[in-house]
Amino acid sequence: MRMVERRKPLPVQDAIDKVMQLSFESETEIVTLRESDGRYLGVDLKSDHDVPPFDRSPYDGFAIRAEDTGEANQENPVRFKVIEEIGAGTVAKKTLHRGEAIRIMTGAPIPNGATAVIMFELVREEVSDNTSYIYIKRKVKEGENISKQGEDAPRGKVLVERGALVTPGVKALLATFGYGEVPVVKKPEVGLFATGTELLDPSDDLEPGKIRNSNSPMIEGQIKAAGAKPKYYGVLEDDFEKCFSSVKHALDHVDILITTGGVSVGDYDYMPRIYEKLGATVLFNKVGMRPGSVTTVAEWNGKILFGLSGNPSACFVGFELFVRPILKRALYSKTPYRLKSKALLQKDFPKPNPYTRFVRSKTEEVEGRIHVSPTGLDKSGSVTSLVEANALTVLPGGTRGFKAGDVVDILHLREEGSSHP
Ligand code: AMP
Ligand code: MG
Repeated sequence: MRMVERRKPLPVQDAIDKVMQLSFESETEIVTLRESDGRYLGVDLKSDHDVPPFDRSPYDGFAIRAEDTGEANQENPVRFKVIEEIGAGTVAKKTLHRGEAIRIMTGAPIPNGATAVIMFELVREEVSDNTSYIYIKRKVKEGENISKQGEDAPRGKVLVERGALVTPGVKALLATFGYGEVPVVKKPEVGLFATGTELLDPSDDLEPGKIRNSNSPMIEGQIKAAGAKPKYYGVLEDDFEKCFSSVKHALDHVDILITTGGVSVGDYDYMPRIYEKLGATVLFNKVGMRPGSVTTVAEWNGKILFGLSGNPSACFVGFELFVRPILKRALYSKTPYRLKSKALLQKDFPKPNPYTRFVRSKTEEVEGRIHVSPTGLDKSGSVTSLVEANALTVLPGGTRGFKAGDVVDILHLREEGSSHP
């Protein structure tokens, strides 16, 4: 008689915490500023000089001494002699004295002696005897139209912290501080196998009894979206020896290995025996969740093995809950978890479920509140329900069902953020 192994389910939070207790770190590498988009900063970005580095003009106009405008008004304009002209990138040679002005362009340093800038639009110019004069009809305040050195960022301040996503704005700042080359966190490499004799490649024609491998492309996408690098090793047929040697071999090359399928209790589910033969420490092999209760995580020689369910929805959820946070943390993210918020359930789930359910869902904002509804067939084998899902509705296990109108937790899939589920 064959005995089906009894596994004790671990609550989802405990399972996530067990994974997060494992150590997994990433190194820093240097890329060019051009290649740095979408990467995560490997160091704090600290200002090593003031921004702007000198007092400068924010407008095209004339640099003057504010006090020389005296009591200037419409009836009594004050005349200034224009003694020099400077564009951005040049420094005035002369120092301003009483009654003098220097024609100055946006971005040029404020000349010595100048205490204000007046825009072109506010002066009248006049040339006589080859000398240029301007007339100012209002009182100008000291410091008017001067962008002060360091007003944008003082020297010595951490402006962007390690782990921040390199956005176009961050790139501008990196360039400002001379980072032609940028230390970024090395993308963790994540090995990936699909298991299942029934699996065909996406470009294969269908055959009786077979399906195309949809998990690997999906997980590759999830790995990339998390900021890591997938290393796809292909499909393994359900053959113990072949699976064992392929997994063992791959573990020489990656620190994290994901397999999909073969973690359940079926006749050809070889992953549990593979962990056993490896001598891996199984952290858990059953989680109190649906889908994905068979999700298994094991550790071997400092490497982490994620055995995700083969069922597409379960596989997706397993990655989001257990793999993504540890990758995010390795990338120094301060927000490794999916953002949690409250939403109004739009559908009844009358049947009580002992396990916490993660329902692939979509959200809609109605009068400032988030409404959430399932995206399709709520079965772990469903692949279509993943398409529109931008959230997971979290329905805690227990003795009651849920009704439309109930306030429930959701985990946002497309927004940055962090809440421990
Ligand atoms: P398993 O976890 O191996 O028992 O697989 C559970 C279900 O998921 C079965 O119906 C498999 O055919 C299906 N499945 C397993 N791997 C994949 C995959 N890579 N792509 C799509 N479906 C899969
Ligand atoms: Mg299988």
